[in-house]
Amino acid sequence: MTSTIQGEMFIGGAAIKGAGNATYAVAAATGEKLEPAFGTATKDDLERACTLAGEAFDPYRQLPDAQRAAFLEAIAQAIVDLGAELIERAHAETALPIARLEGERGRTVGQLKLFATLVREGRWHGAIVDPAQPQRAPLPRADLRLRRIGLGPVAVFGASNFPLAFSVAGGDTASALAAGCPVIVKAHPAHLGTSELVGRAIQRAARETGMPEGVFSLLIGEGIWLGEALVAHPEIQAVGFTGSRQGGLALLRIAQARPEPIPVYAEMSSINPVVLLPEALAARGEQIARDFADSVALGVGQFCTNPGIVLALEGAALDAFCATAAQAIAAKQAATMLTPGIHAAYCRGVSHLSALEGVSELAHGVATSGAHDAVPTLLRTEARAFLAQAAMEEEIFGPSSLIVACRDIGELRAVLRRMSGQLTATVQLDEGDYEQARTLLPTLERKAGRVLFNGFPTGVEVCHAMVHGGPFPATSDTRTTSVGATAIDRFLRPVCYQSVPDTLLPEALKHGNPLAIWRLVDGELTRD
Ligand code: NAP
Repeated sequence: MTSTIQGEMFIGGAAIKGAGNATYAVAAATGEKLEPAFGTATKDDLERACTLAGEAFDPYRQLPDAQRAAFLEAIAQAIVDLGAELIERAHAETALPIARLEGERGRTVGQLKLFATLVREGRWHGAIVDPAQPQRAPLPRADLRLRRIGLGPVAVFGASNFPLAFSVAGGDTASALAAGCPVIVKAHPAHLGTSELVGRAIQRAARETGMPEGVFSLLIGEGIWLGEALVAHPEIQAVGFTGSRQGGLALLRIAQARPEPIPVYAEMSSINPVVLLPEALAARGEQIARDFADSVALGVGQFCTNPGIVLALEGAALDAFCATAAQAIAAKQAATMLTPGIHAAYCRGVSHLSALEGVSELAHGVATSGAHDAVPTLLRTEARAFLAQAAMEEEIFGPSSLIVACRDIGELRAVLRRMSGQLTATVQLDEGDYEQARTLLPTLERKAGRVLFNGFPTGVEVCHAMVHGGPFPATSDTRTTSVGATAIDRFLRPVCYQSVPDTLLPEALKHGNPLAIWRLVDGELTRD
């Protein structure tokens, strides 16, 4: 198939080859350059994208809900229409398997459609009406009405590990566009061709549904200057980021140092504790061990929800679990990571953790010849050693996990309490473990955005109830999620209208409820 990739980026309605230094995408499996060369953005390109986004904000956010929903649906369709070229290019750039990428495309498309439904349905307005009480004594109450509006143009940093679902048209972009915010994406250098294809699909959808020009731009940069300048630009009003803790914190600092600070929703690092309670461990230890090993190695461990740490009480059942898990990990082949940098960080992380006092290696997988192949690794330590060395808690992005043996439930709880914020916390339990689980639950709730029982944290459903967030350093804002319908809340803020004449009120707040949306009127939820 002839490639449609031109090495271009998108600034509003224009597709341009950046005049900055050329850069190439790289085949993850071989390290070879992939054609064509991409032009990179100049300061003028950044300025133009930001100016257009600023100009597009008011016309875009004031469009009827149905039109914005149609835009999101058109993006979903345009991504489907990219067909095999998208999957093949993403596979070449990331080495992620074709089936996984096809699944990820389905998730990306489903996510866009979920936000389209949400926008049409209208609850996102958060409309609240407190009618005037002119007779109230001693003072009358004015007519007060609240609705939410978009924050303004949003900068999105595509993530390396989900080239579709967390990248150019991923959850951050979909939720920001749903909230009425124009988006400028900074392409992740690990999948430039994939980014161009998806960017072109969004541009086509914007054209076909009559969106204001600056509603979407995609910029390609060389080095960190572009990301830094984007976050610092006065037109940008919020940031969505998934990646390293270092990168997320650097952007957070820039955002906070601006004359007008803005929120940064950064999803950064998490080691996702899995607690094995005694009855489940004794009854199902072997099965749990095999499933756990699969979860560790899934996608070469390149999931933010990878189970990086296991907590259980020491004893024969844990020893048997370790033996089975070690056998399962030893049978797993090394596989190619997303980038040489991510592979190097994985190797550094494993050797650093292995060298810490009290850590022993239980197993490693089968090494292969690929230069950037990560060998799955299983390590073990004791709670005392863990509690004494904070470095054991650092995320190792890749297929490794650390089993922590605890003397009793008190020590296990102490380990959980010492841990910082997490995206997920998992408990494996049987009925006889319920009482212990009940005592752990308050700690798990404080630590994690999602608490799950008898499963594994890899695999994140896109739905209304999902939380993919958590206390720092899982995210920079513990009140939010980057996956699921409530991800839209990150890009909205409330505005109250006091004594505004009906004709001047936004549709969502007018008397008679012309949009027929759910509203809280005088404290009662109604569509009247
Ligand atoms: P990254 O290095 O944080 O980069 C993510 C994006 O942010 C890239 O577009 C990068 O641009 C930009 N960026 C990073 N630091 C920046 C800075 N100081 N100023 C401006 N822009 C900056 O993440 P990555 O490349 O995806 O992976 C590296 C590591 O991140 C992994 O080894 C892993 O530890 C972690 N990671 C975690 C998750 C998670 O979900 N928890 C997901 C993916 C990666 P440039 O590359 O152009 O500089």
